Amino acid sequence: MYDYLIVGAGLYGATCAYELNKKGYKCLVIDKRDHIAGNIYTKEIEGINVHVYGAHIFHTSNKEIWDYINQFAEFNNFINQPVARYKNELYNLPFNMNTFTKLWNDVFTPDDAKNKIEEEKNKYHIEDPKNLEEQAINLVGPTIYEKLIKGYTAKQWGRPCTELPSFIIKRLPVRFTFDNNYFNDRYQGIPIGGYTKIIEKMLSGIEVRLNYDYKLHKNEINANNVIYTGPIDEYFDYCYGPLEYRKVEFKTEILDCDNYQGNAVVNYTQYEIPYTRIIEHKHFEFGKQSKTVISKEYSSTWKPGDEPYYPLNDNKNNDLYNKYKELADKEKNISFGGRLGLYKYYDMDDTIEVALNYLKDIK
Ligand code: UDP
Repeated sequence: MYDYLIVGAGLYGATCAYELNKKGYKCLVIDKRDHIAGNIYTKEIEGINVHVYGAHIFHTSNKEIWDYINQFAEFNNFINQPVARYKNELYNLPFNMNTFTKLWNDVFTPDDAKNKIEEEKNKYHIEDPKNLEEQAINLVGPTIYEKLIKGYTAKQWGRPCTELPSFIIKRLPVRFTFDNNYFNDRYQGIPIGGYTKIIEKMLSGIEVRLNYDYKLHKNEINANNVIYTGPIDEYFDYCYGPLEYRKVEFKTEILDCDNYQGNAVVNYTQYEIPYTRIIEHKHFEFGKQSKTVISKEYSSTWKPGDEPYYPLNDNKNNDLYNKYKELADKEKNISFGGRLGLYKYYDMDDTIEVALNYLKDIK
């Protein structure tokens, strides 16, 4: 008999398990995969911690969350400074003075850059932007949009920017300083030794069953409460139809060279290049190994049975989620959490914060 059955050994599930275990509740954590840590799982290859489900860079402005995660690992001083490749040109991201001075050879100062973008924006300004394309053009003008946003975004989300919600682009900062830090957050880094170790620590002393599918085994487990971090639509057998996600696939290669691209992340913003980005994992931890491991990231349409990654939070899908949420609210002794259970585009810090908020009410 368990107090809590936690379905999913990812960051949300592990945070819940750790805190509930500390409060004295008996927990069982199950996961249908053969490993813990969900999508933050890292695996050592050639002495390099490989981010198996894509790059995860921890960043937050919330000191409480930063202190919280630092209980479980020491973080290095990695700062994400991705580079974008468009045809035979390389640009710094996010959009900043390094990007602007390279794009326009008559731009030298922040004022020059502002004037240039203003000039471009004025020509194309759209009142009340309704989609990502309009929002992006209003934000940075058509040149940056064409070279650095249009193709990348269409590849990542599988539809043109005119059919995407504008909020997606709001994640990307625009700065008039020579600052290549992708994030605006106060705290940032990569856990030394990989993310899997964090989850191992969180789950230490707690019973975990891997290769264990909730749907197949739920009747065998006696638990007073369930925390479900799988897809909410799957839980309800897709009774209102499936929610849409984006699927991401990684083609990982070990290369016999010590430095393939000189940076952890290079985005390929041209539509014709089939992958969205190449991750060179060793650079997350300033690795000096003689070989390197790279992953090409391909984004594609998700269908039921595939691994879901990004929830597609447009109006249609959010409305559908709300219908599932109504069903969820009627269920007894079960709560839903994480990116899939709550159908939200959460970063790692959000995930922990939402979990800790949920746990506050449990004495
Ligand atoms: N984006 C872009 N060009 C880039 C990088 C990002 O247009 O080179 C846009 C794109 O629309 C993407 C959004 O910014 O969906 C958010 O990107 P981010 O890198 O934050 O996504 P994540 O790392 O979560 O996949």
